[in-house]
Amino acid sequence: PDTKLPKVGTTIFTVMSQLAIEHGAVNLGQGFPDFDVPVRLVDALTRAMQDGKNQYSPMTGIPALRQAIAGKTERCYGHRPDADSEITVVSGASEAIFDAIHAVVHPGDEVIVLDPCYDCYEPAIDLAGGVAVHVPLDPRSFAPDWNLVRAAISPRTRLLMINSPHNPSGAMFSADDIRQLTELLRGTDILLISDEVYEHIVFDGAIHESVLRHPELRARAFVVSSFGKTYHCTGWKIGYCIAPPALSVEFRKVHQYNSFSSFTPAQWAFAEMLEAEPEHYEQLGAFYQAKRDRFREQLLTTRLKPLDVPGGYFQLVDYSAVSDLDDAAFCRWLTTEKGVAAIPLSPFYESPPAGQRLARLCFAKNEATLDAAIERLQGL
Ligand code: PMP
Ligand code: GLN
Repeated sequence: PDTKLPKVGTTIFTVMSQLAIEHGAVNLGQGFPDFDVPVRLVDALTRAMQDGKNQYSPMTGIPALRQAIAGKTERCYGHRPDADSEITVVSGASEAIFDAIHAVVHPGDEVIVLDPCYDCYEPAIDLAGGVAVHVPLDPRSFAPDWNLVRAAISPRTRLLMINSPHNPSGAMFSADDIRQLTELLRGTDILLISDEVYEHIVFDGAIHESVLRHPELRARAFVVSSFGKTYHCTGWKIGYCIAPPALSVEFRKVHQYNSFSSFTPAQWAFAEMLEAEPEHYEQLGAFYQAKRDRFREQLLTTRLKPLDVPGGYFQLVDYSAVSDLDDAAFCRWLTTEKGVAAIPLSPFYESPPAGQRLARLCFAKNEATLDAAIERLQGL
């Protein structure tokens, strides 16, 4: 049959989670926490539903949540976006990314993505009639080479997509990356989508270089975040987009006919949570750093070699001491034969680096889950 997305199958996250269930594997594949959301958040959600906050919210999100996001952004990044004209609440970062791409990409426009990149970017570009232009990150450090990005720019370039902390690697942009990016875009009309869903999961005292800190960049950017990552509730699917007024107008044209508005009770719950417990997001880095450190320590007792993880909740491991299978075959084997589900990196690339032997493990898990996985990985 005629298909608009010939390259697209079922996402690797769904495939590996399904395989994990079938084989009783410990699921360190698809990224989601297996521990509870904060008590106050569940309480606030329940209260909102009991209080009758069950109908459509305003198309842009409830004012209390947009104000709370503005306040949080100012506290974290020293810049207060306007709650009415610059913040839009949507159904997850995935919707924000889809809406932003569709708001600005015309047929034939080029969109530069940095490989490996999250799997929802390219299909949205394709559906908008755009052309994804893939620029590789460094295969070991996952740092951008800004000269390669510069070389990929053409008169048709409409948009550049960035993601820090990065999925799948955890790499983070440095202040120097921001400086080079700013210089690269100066004098061009190129817009930016900055996927910052792991903004609060940063380690070792590092600073998250949000685009919102940088006036020149934020003037041309859609900055996307997700409460799913920050509040351990990936199933609630609430995110938001911060963009200058003119870009937000275009963004909202797509959002209003895509989903129109997002789950109202959760918006009330996040509004309360952001204001009442800022400690939650302030301490999220320390919370995950303890998990990262413990998991890495345990991995040293296996033949998997952990790479550095500056941010996010994924640990890349080099499995070349264990197997010479390609990453898709290795992750399948690990899941079906060894009982630990992992995610290969190749689906995040247009052309994966030859011979790359890396797998992604999610450490957003209880200690018991990680212990069970490690016990199995020690048998490799
Ligand atoms: N971007 C990145 C880098 C992600 O890891 C994810 C979630 N896995 C998303 C976007 C989508 O977030 P959401 O679940 O809020 O749609
Ligand atoms: N973002 C999650 C991950 O990277 C998966 C989300 C999904 O399954 N669509 O694992």
